[in-house]
Amino acid sequence: MTQSIRRIVLASRPSGAPTPSNFRLEEAAMPDLPDGQVLLETIYLSLDPYMRGRMSDAKSYADPIAIDDVIVGATVSRIKQSRSEDWKKGDIVLAYSGWQTHALSDGKDLRRIDPAVAPISTGLGVLGMTGFSAYAGLHNIGRPKPGETVVVAAASGAVGSVVGQIARIQGSRAVGIAGGRAKCAFVKNELGFNAAVDHRAPDFARQLAEACADGIDVYFENVGGAVWNAVLPLLNNFARIPLCGMISHYNDGAADEQSTDRLPASMKVIQQKSITVRGFMNVEFIDQQPAFLKQAAAWIADGRLKYREDIVDGLELAPAAFIGLLEGRNFGKLIIRVSGDR
Ligand code: NDP
Repeated sequence: MTQSIRRIVLASRPSGAPTPSNFRLEEAAMPDLPDGQVLLETIYLSLDPYMRGRMSDAKSYADPIAIDDVIVGATVSRIKQSRSEDWKKGDIVLAYSGWQTHALSDGKDLRRIDPAVAPISTGLGVLGMTGFSAYAGLHNIGRPKPGETVVVAAASGAVGSVVGQIARIQGSRAVGIAGGRAKCAFVKNELGFNAAVDHRAPDFARQLAEACADGIDVYFENVGGAVWNAVLPLLNNFARIPLCGMISHYNDGAADEQSTDRLPASMKVIQQKSITVRGFMNVEFIDQQPAFLKQAAAWIADGRLKYREDIVDGLELAPAAFIGLLEGRNFGKLIIRVSGDR
C-alpha cells in the first residue's frame, strides 16, 4: 500500500484570477484507519466554478477554505480499506474527499455508484451535481413549454449542455451560448441544440437576436456580465430565469458593484415584463434527485442525453486545470483522473 498521500492545499487566497502560487502540492503520511471508518482512494476529482468562491474569505453560503487546508471537491473514489460494516473494499462511491489522493470517511456522506449504469466519472457530471442542477433549475423554475425558446449560457459545459438537451427532449427550442467556434459546433451538431452563438464574436448581441427571432422565454443563467446584457433586451413577457450562477464575476470579485450599474435597467425589464427571476441551489430540490437519476440514466442509455468530459490526468495538474476553467479552457465537465479507474 502507498505509504504517503498527496494533496493540494490552499497556499494563499487568490486576488482576481487564481495563479499557481495560490496552491501547494504536499505529501503527508497515510492516515491510520479508525474503527467504523473507510479509507478512500480518489479515482476522479470534480473541478467546479464554486470552488473559486470557497477560496475567498468573502461572506457566502459556505465557509471559506482555511489557508493550508485541502481544497474541497467531490470525488469518485474506491474503498481501499474498510473497517465499517456498511462498506466493503472495492466499492465505488461518490465522496467529497477534495483535492487529494486518499481520505478517511465515516461513510455517512458516501453514495454508492453503480458502474453498470454509466461510466463512473458521470457521477461527477451528467449524473452528478451539475446534471442535477440543470434538471432542477429547468424543471422547477424555467418550466419551458413545447415550442418556447430556451437560451443557456456556458452551453458546452457541465450544466449548460444538459439544460439545452433536456429542453430539446421536452420539445422546446434550445439556443446555446458558448465561447469559440469549436464549442459552438459541438453544441449545435453533437448536442443537437437548434442554434449556438459565440459570446466572443464582436457582433455577439446581433447574432443572439437573430438566433432568438421570437424572443427568449427561458434564460438559464450561468454566466452574467456581457452575456446577461445581450440577453436582457430579448426577454419576452413572462420569461423565466433560473439564476444558477454568474461565473464571469467569480474572478473580478465585483459582482455587487458590477450589477449595480445594470440593476435599474435589469429591474425595469423584469418588472415591466412580469418576469420571474429565481436563484437556486440544487440542494433545495434534493428530494427530486432519484427521479432525475432514473430519467437521465434512461436518456443516456437510449442516446438522447449526451455528455462530454474533459479529463485531465494527474492531481498535480488540478491547479492549472482549475485556472483554465475560469478562463473557458475546459471543454465539457472538467474532471481530474487521480488514479486508474479499474
Ligand atoms: P462549465 O463546465 O460550464 O465550465 C465553465 C464555463 O463557463 C467555461 O468553460 C466557459 O465556457 C464559461 N465561462 C467562464 N468564464 C466566462 C466568462 N467570463 N464569460 C462567459 N462565459 C464564461 O461549468 P459548470 O457547468 O460546472 O457551471 C456553470 C455555472 O453553473 C457556474 O456559474 C456555476 O457556478 C453554476 N452552478 C450552480 C449550481 C447551483 O446549484 N446553483 C450548481 C452547479 C453549478 P465558454 O468558453 O463557453 O464561455
